[in-house]
Amino acid sequence: MIRKTLAALACATMLATGAHAQTAAPIQPDVALMRDAVKTLASDAFEGRAPATAAEPKVLDYIIGKFRAVGLQPGVHGGWLQDVPTVAIAGHDHSGLHITGKGQDLTFAYGSDYVVGSYREVAQTTLANAPLVFVGFGVNAPELGWNDYAGVDMHGKIAVILINDPDYWMTSEDGLFKGRRMTYYGRWTYKFEEAARQGAAGALIVHDTFPAAYGWNVVQSSWSGPQRFVASDDHGMSQTQINGWVQHGVAAKLFAAAGLDLDAQAEAARHKGFHAVPLGLSANVAFANTITRSVSHNVIGVLPGRTHPEDVVLYSAHWDHLGHCTPDAKGDGICNGAVDNATGVAALLALAEANVKTGPAARSQVFVALTLEESGLLGSEYYAQHPVYPLSHTVGGVNMDALPPSGAAHDYAMTGGDKSDLTGVLRSTLADMGLRETAEDHTERGHYYRSDHFSMAKRGVPMFDLSRGHDLLIGGTAAGDAAAEDYVTHRYHQPSDEYSDSWDWSGITEDVGLFYRLGRTLADGNTWPNWHPTDEFRAARDASRASGQ
Ligand SMILES: [Zn+2]
Repeated sequence: MIRKTLAALACATMLATGAHAQTAAPIQPDVALMRDAVKTLASDAFEGRAPATAAEPKVLDYIIGKFRAVGLQPGVHGGWLQDVPTVAIAGHDHSGLHITGKGQDLTFAYGSDYVVGSYREVAQTTLANAPLVFVGFGVNAPELGWNDYAGVDMHGKIAVILINDPDYWMTSEDGLFKGRRMTYYGRWTYKFEEAARQGAAGALIVHDTFPAAYGWNVVQSSWSGPQRFVASDDHGMSQTQINGWVQHGVAAKLFAAAGLDLDAQAEAARHKGFHAVPLGLSANVAFANTITRSVSHNVIGVLPGRTHPEDVVLYSAHWDHLGHCTPDAKGDGICNGAVDNATGVAALLALAEANVKTGPAARSQVFVALTLEESGLLGSEYYAQHPVYPLSHTVGGVNMDALPPSGAAHDYAMTGGDKSDLTGVLRSTLADMGLRETAEDHTERGHYYRSDHFSMAKRGVPMFDLSRGHDLLIGGTAAGDAAAEDYVTHRYHQPSDEYSDSWDWSGITEDVGLFYRLGRTLADGNTWPNWHPTDEFRAARDASRASGQ
């Protein structure tokens, strides 16, 4: 184990000092292959590619056909498909949230005041007289010496948690939690995961529009339907009994009922050494659950390595999209997902083809078309929980999600910022290609935590998530900004995200050229990139590499 650690350190040093400056040779990506993929997958015949619908077999057949045609081998123990079983849990017959203690008797309404759901597969959820404990931001970050749960036993209790992380309000990115830049600890999904690890009976996040970056209406609507999860062997019993959100004004009333001031408590929670505060109040909440199961599929192909086939480099892109959706003004009710993410699948195919043409690398290269990204990264979560190729032997990878059909650019941004040794690989490659690194925009939105690479990253695998910059070869930043704005406003998750023959493929071609060189550099190298020592995923990587699993 010690030797392994030293070897990993030596590799990290080589990357950091630029000793590993050799990057892969350039390629000419197959535009005809990519055009056919987007045109086909985003056609109305594919109905917007909703998982576990009649559209799914068409998508799977298409991707398998192309994987086979470009020369990949089946990647799942001789087959092409990995089953992804999921569970949808829909709550109903909500009791209302009743609060007692300190002489209080308060009742809050489901929907307008709070939302709640079960991550456990149980027919009925009932929580009676569960004490409420304010745990600040609900963060346990050993690498930063920060633990909001220090000294409290959460069993049987409900954690009341602030959204975002302790220095979200900063304008710079200098804080312990990277200032205004979102960290994993700021994401709502993390809050529920950590509360479960602490053994809490429940977790309620206090909504606040600025740090959440969306209004209560978004929370209410996204929690009104069933919540979908990867099926687990323990049927979710290691999760809390209830997870949910309370509206900000409701939280203020709760704190007032406890004789506390929410704003003052939230201020105190931003500082190191904050101690969790029992509110002296208890919650009562009940609801019934309807449970529905379904199975979708990841498609996996492999180009086995020449000398180290047990070590793998991953390339991933989600094939799913939203399917039938709210019709637009023209009556078009299919969300085709041409950019999001037929382009990523197209790039995946072009990368597979280019690598087969070059010939196998030293290490294996695994190409994964993932399902259920739009339902909460479930295809990648399932893969990460059940890796066909062990994560300890996964060198790193590239995830591709929504490659804009705007032109080639002079610059690329690394989503998430400089988190790992992959930064060194990127910088050498960009320099070789005459490209420039640019800053990610809207770092407060936490884009790194919102697509499939994150499922791998949080289990330690360093993953690239790159976005082409706005400084376009033709039209400069004005054209790049306009194209990005047009996509976000007029196409993103709408029926108008459609293929057009007028697409400019120069940008996507540039993306694939870059991704090829990044992946190939890892696949022909012998380094084991790791996260930087204070990074949120470093401990997971070290544990994974040491485990050998
Ligand atoms: Zn996407």
